[in-house]
Amino acid sequence: MSACLFCKIAAGEIPAKFVRENERMVAFRDLNPQAPVHILLVPRRHLASLDDARPEDHELLGSILGEARSIAAEEGIAGGYRIVNNCGSSAGQSVFHIHFHLLGGRALGWPPG
Ligand code: AMP
Repeated sequence: MSACLFCKIAAGEIPAKFVRENERMVAFRDLNPQAPVHILLVPRRHLASLDDARPEDHELLGSILGEARSIAAEEGIAGGYRIVNNCGSSAGQSVFHIHFHLLGGRALGWPPG
């Protein structure tokens, strides 16, 4: 069994509030939301970070952006949301299974911290 938290969530071994799942990815609500809508989009395939993505992963990662757009519309935040990928601990990555934060539902400041 994988020791990775997001692999376990994707496999249904640890509960999460899923908003979407398919054969390639899962999307679930962040445990510690930073905005009224805060959803994590996670490929089932384990990649530690964006640094580990290879050309053969690009279609998968692009499809996740499409899912984010669609989920944003479902959540009622189309036209006002942010997608974040923290790559590496100095950028704030704490779970080393690549994921994209979808944040919205409030005004989002710039630049991020
Ligand atoms: P990052 O810091 O970019 O690696 O993001 C990891 C995110 O995972 C954080 O926003 C955490 O709040 C979130 N998180 C950690 N554990 C869980 C969990 N069991 N279910 C949902 N979200 C989680």
